[in-house]
Amino acid sequence: MRLVRASPVVQTRAVGGPADQPDYLNMVIEVETVLEPLALLRHCQAVEQLHHRVREVRWGPRTLDVDIVAYADMALDTAELTLPHPRAAERAFVLQPWAWMDPQATLGGARVSDLAARAADRGGLALFEPTERRT
Ligand code: ATP
Ligand code: CA
Ligand code: CA
Repeated sequence: MRLVRASPVVQTRAVGGPADQPDYLNMVIEVETVLEPLALLRHCQAVEQLHHRVREVRWGPRTLDVDIVAYADMALDTAELTLPHPRAAERAFVLQPWAWMDPQATLGGARVSDLAARAADRGGLALFEPTERRT
């Protein structure tokens, strides 16, 4: 797997799930890979496990979540894997970092930056500015 591009990190208010969750940090990366989609999903899940992903409730806070937003132009709908990700087109926390990373990007024939501008959760999003760590 080769990293092609990485987006800035955005800080976003939680969308759905239990109330009073802490903010999330989100980013999008583009990779080149020899892995088929299902093998890539398994790889993403292995990365989550390696980072000791912990989550108690669905859509509740979790330590790490790695999804496949899109795989080239492939459309797939199986029990385990849907491509593109079925909720990506309405999530500013996915669309905005993706558009910043790749202004030309499209999803389902639409410009990702246009989708981001229309997403209902776009107001709860800001560029993440890490406070400098002093030693
Ligand atoms: P959401 O799917 O709304 O972002 P989530 O990421 O919290 O929610 P998970 O519990 O991490 O949901 O994943 C549930 C299942 O979704 C996974 O076990 C996986 O099989 C399936 N899945 C289907 N399509 C995808 C995809 N494109 N990327 C990642 N997982 C997917
Ligand atoms: Ca997810
Ligand atoms: Ca997931």
